[in-house]
Amino acid sequence: MEKISIIVPCYNEEEALPLFYKEITKIAKKMKKIDFEILLINDGSKDQTLEIARSLSKKDQRVRYVSFSRNFGKEAAMYAGLEYATGDYVAVMDADLQDPPELLEEMYRLIQEEGYDCVGTRRVTRKGEPPIRSFFARCFYKIINKMSKVEMVDGARDFRLMTRQMVDAILSMNEYNRYSKGLFSFVGFQTKWLEYENVERVAGETKWSFWKLLLYAFDGIIAFSTAPLSIAVFVGILFCIVSFIMILVIIIKTLCFGDPVGGWPSIVCIMFFLSGIQLFCIGVIGAYLSKTYLETKHRPIYIVKETEKTE
Ligand code: UDP
Ligand code: MG
Repeated sequence: MEKISIIVPCYNEEEALPLFYKEITKIAKKMKKIDFEILLINDGSKDQTLEIARSLSKKDQRVRYVSFSRNFGKEAAMYAGLEYATGDYVAVMDADLQDPPELLEEMYRLIQEEGYDCVGTRRVTRKGEPPIRSFFARCFYKIINKMSKVEMVDGARDFRLMTRQMVDAILSMNEYNRYSKGLFSFVGFQTKWLEYENVERVAGETKWSFWKLLLYAFDGIIAFSTAPLSIAVFVGILFCIVSFIMILVIIIKTLCFGDPVGGWPSIVCIMFFLSGIQLFCIGVIGAYLSKTYLETKHRPIYIVKETEKTE
């Protein structure tokens, strides 16, 4: 019998998790020919999530869990899930039912019958999201797709079903700074996109503030593009050309009209402008340097405190 592993990163999901379990068992019942493994990754929750995971796994042997020693973030939770999953197919799903479990059946069919390696989902609407956030999200996708060779699909969710082959390819990239949207796309393979309307969370609240999303966007750009590093080169060349022209203008002006003193405000403005650009470019280099620094430490992506086997 073929097995589908479902990875569920959970961070403070005590309210949503029981509802999620109810829905997923319904689907499992419907898809009789397939074995299921539900892998709950407790990402250092501060509420009752771990207790719920423990009791679910006692009650139902299809449920397994891995509990981290602290909060390592969703990216780390997904990576751990991929490492622990034993299924022939692996799906990643949020605990808040924003990823409709009904789609699993169709996803499995597409892989089985139409030969795709991966079926991803993207939401075509951003209903229920603050408009300003949607606006920035759209801008982000435009910018990153211009800057990076790896294609990032607008509205793509982490909810996807993959073959074992693709999972192994993703696991082979054990980088510390993980930006999954890019990693999924980087490995290639045939991906089919299913579209659906945005669904709001069943319970609990989102862990993403606007500020966190913005930082995450920068991480994505740094992880999948080196274009910002060349900003200094282009701006530098541009400014050299401008300064040559200015030198010529000043020489000619002085020869023709003498050298009256003045113009210090313009000098101050130019100084501020140029030092701003220099600091900006140093900052960009610093951003890449810091990522390289973290990468070279080879710290573990996550630390496990407990699993259903150690209980
Ligand atoms: N999550 C996690 N670790 C974190 C933050 C979130 O494992 O540090 C999980 C969370 O429990 C949920 C999923 O990632 O299952 C998506 O989180 P959320 O619903 O807050 O994000 P949104 O859907 O608003 O993008
Ligand atoms: Mg959510």
